[in-house]
Amino acid sequence: MTKTSQQIRRDFLEFFQSKGHQIVPSSPLVPGNDPTLLFTNAGMVQFKDVFLGAEKRSYKRAVSSQRCVRAGGKHNDLDQVGYTARHHTFFEMLGNFSFGDYFKREAIAYAWELLTKVWGIPADKLLVTVYHTDDEAFDIWHKEVGLPADRIIRIGDNKGAPYASDNFWQMADTGPCGPCSEIFYDHGPSIPGGPPGSPDEDGDRFIEIWNNVFMQYDRQPDGTLVPLPAPCVDTGMGLERIAAVLQHVHSNYEIDLFQHLIKAAAALTGATDLEHKSLRVIADHIRACSFLVVDGVLPSNEGRGYVLRRIVRRAVRHFWKLGGLSADGKFWRMVQPLVEAMGEAYPELAAKQKLVEQALRAEEAAFAQTLDAGMDRLHEYLAAGGNRIGGEQLFQLHDTYGCPPDLIADLLRENADKGWTLADGALAGYEALMEQQRERARAASKFAGTTALPADLVATLKPTEFLGYEALESDGCRV
Ligand code: ATP
Ligand code: MG
Ligand code: MG
Ligand code: MG
Repeated sequence: MTKTSQQIRRDFLEFFQSKGHQIVPSSPLVPGNDPTLLFTNAGMVQFKDVFLGAEKRSYKRAVSSQRCVRAGGKHNDLDQVGYTARHHTFFEMLGNFSFGDYFKREAIAYAWELLTKVWGIPADKLLVTVYHTDDEAFDIWHKEVGLPADRIIRIGDNKGAPYASDNFWQMADTGPCGPCSEIFYDHGPSIPGGPPGSPDEDGDRFIEIWNNVFMQYDRQPDGTLVPLPAPCVDTGMGLERIAAVLQHVHSNYEIDLFQHLIKAAAALTGATDLEHKSLRVIADHIRACSFLVVDGVLPSNEGRGYVLRRIVRRAVRHFWKLGGLSADGKFWRMVQPLVEAMGEAYPELAAKQKLVEQALRAEEAAFAQTLDAGMDRLHEYLAAGGNRIGGEQLFQLHDTYGCPPDLIADLLRENADKGWTLADGALAGYEALMEQQRERARAASKFAGTTALPADLVATLKPTEFLGYEALESDGCRV
């Protein structure tokens, strides 16, 4: 019998509890302490001020299973979803934290004990990375854990912007950061992809399961690194990725939790191929959309609400692709199976089921009215434009039919074999037209509408305030 996701989550929390860690519940997806961050994208977000020394807690060790969304802002994985075995818009990050208590040695020893002793993962399936100058971490892995030197890979920070490095972790442009050591699982030579640091590292053979960040600095707006008052540990392991390892499957979508959702989507559409990309995308998106509503986000044309709107519309487009939409909607019917799969671990989801269903249903209904016509128009554009979609057309598809550019880009990418593509500069052209429209709207102080919902339901939501600029920078429409 393999372990269920539920059991794996519990194992993790209990293991670290037995090592003196306080179990801390997941914080919401809308960060309460940081209006510049679009969504909670890691377990450390709720502890940011503790790392910075600005906030004290009654404990120095914590463990959590944090709900995360990476669909906008600095960590945006929306365009990976459906294309890799390991990226979701919404996922759960298991993490242990030390606030000025233990550091590299203990963090590495704990991780190794849990993976190889408690869970029994064969040591020769694992390899690790360290920051290129971090001899201390290298020596701990090599001399104390006993990992052969050729399974410890040094990774630099020369991939562009400093924060783009895989082995120097940073939550955002400023804030706590430090070198990290990542643990990878080798799913075997039958799957394409090279080890970390190699040219084909982006394949799905060597999957990063756990990142151990050794937080030592607070990055300032000018880029300088100021040492933290006390070095800390922040780790993150994707529950879905470790579940795939422990359930002896390759893709996250094959784990128990996702299979439940995929079967529900298949039942709604009549699809029979459970590996169909659209079913996977729907199963991914229902989690992000539902938890965003639970945490106070409603579909809208700006900021967080716009990210939610685009994810709902992508999901609806996949239902459409699998055979059309029905008058009473489909996507919102995925909320019930989600509550079955995750309601016990997240009681707030079960408690807000009705609200989530109504919000998603209203958004689906609005989009379903124009989607058919939008798709027809897209095909006309493709036929007339030699399979290319330009900025003006992107703008029309969005403005008239509610099809956001990232949805179109994803559709074109799916049909790349037919030669469908965005024209050069299409996104820039689209942005320019959007900006002109915003100017006109500002001039007319037009109201940017949100989904119509009963006022009493809306009153149950906490307002969400977003003061950052990340949403504008990364509208998710990069391809
Ligand atoms: P990757 O390189 O695979 O994109 P990452 O380096 O961006 O992952 P981290 O920021 O180090 O990820 O996050 C810690 C852990 O969270 C990862 O090791 C992984 O297990 C998990 N994780 C990160 N992004 C996702 C995602 N989009 N979906 C599912 N799990 C994720
Ligand atoms: Mg990533
Ligand atoms: Mg990585
Ligand atoms: Mg990582």
